[in-house]
Amino acid sequence: MPEPLIEKYRERLSLEPGDPVVTMNEGSTPLIEAPVISERVGASVYLKLEGVNPTGSFKDRGMTVAVSRAKGAGAEAIICASTGNTAASCAAYAARAGLRGVVIVPEGRIAIGKLAQALIHGARVIALRGNFDQALEIVRELADRHPVELVNSVNPYRIEGQKTAAFEVCDELGPPDALAIPVGNAGNITAWWRGFQEYEVAPVLYGFQAEGAAPLVLGRPVAEPETIASAIRIGNPARWEEAMDAVTASRGRIAAVSDEQILDAYHLLASREGVFCEPASAASVAGILAHGLPAPEDREPPRSVVCVLTGHGLKDPDTALTKAPSVIGCEADTEAVEREVFKDD
Ligand SMILES: *Cc1c(COP(=O)(O)O)cnc(C)c1O
Repeated sequence: MPEPLIEKYRERLSLEPGDPVVTMNEGSTPLIEAPVISERVGASVYLKLEGVNPTGSFKDRGMTVAVSRAKGAGAEAIICASTGNTAASCAAYAARAGLRGVVIVPEGRIAIGKLAQALIHGARVIALRGNFDQALEIVRELADRHPVELVNSVNPYRIEGQKTAAFEVCDELGPPDALAIPVGNAGNITAWWRGFQEYEVAPVLYGFQAEGAAPLVLGRPVAEPETIASAIRIGNPARWEEAMDAVTASRGRIAAVSDEQILDAYHLLASREGVFCEPASAASVAGILAHGLPAPEDREPPRSVVCVLTGHGLKDPDTALTKAPSVIGCEADTEAVEREVFKDD
């Protein structure tokens, strides 16, 4: 039996001894080589496929711990604001734990797969006429007023769970020289850094935001964040300072990538590496392709880089279909099909 991350790393997580383990065997995700991207950046690039988690994103690593603790503490309901994946994960773990799940999402702004997940797991889904940042503000207030557990990454147990991704990489590969990761609400980069610190290693962190939603790059909140990468469409990250501290301590950097660069990397990953991730995830690869692998002056340039592919491509089929070539219609006739199959493009 594969071991749930709570069992595997129990002594490193801050759960209470009596807490139940609400799990679907998250974590232990594949780490694979990326020969095409390696060639382009001149280093060994590895992809950490977080889309292979039970609900298709890394959010499950944090959710298993947060929901186990919430259940242990006697909560009856969990709530979150979400750009989509937290909603999907919250809904699934609520179902599994026998808790009520409530998710607040920006109306019309989340990928269709994520919405389907939240609904089928039976969460109450509220579509806010507003953006993620407003949704987060509202759920924080509701969690203050009512006995519901907030499971956004402001919840410390989310970070605890998510840091295990760094443990896995170090256990499997040894510490990489650098880590490239998309940054939205900035919980995940905070978590990875914590994981590395607990292993007493310090890869250079490259955090990438989308150009239209790049508060950490600009140094100020963005009132109306805009990008194709809906999972990182966030204008005022909750873990702003921790993320910046992590990047500074690692002597890395935060930089922006355009939607075009994100979609090019997304397409490259799918068409050349065989990996289908969601657009936000591709920001990690877009970032190293666009900005290279800058090293602190007294260090050699990174020779090994792990790109975190945060979520699965099936989450957002609309973007895939817009970016991909069209299907070819054909009559049910062998010669006609033959022509289409062997036609030079
Ligand atoms: C949540 C999410 C992110 C951003 O992570 P933060 O912890 O909010 O910075 C990136 N990609 C995907 C697919 C996500 O679901």
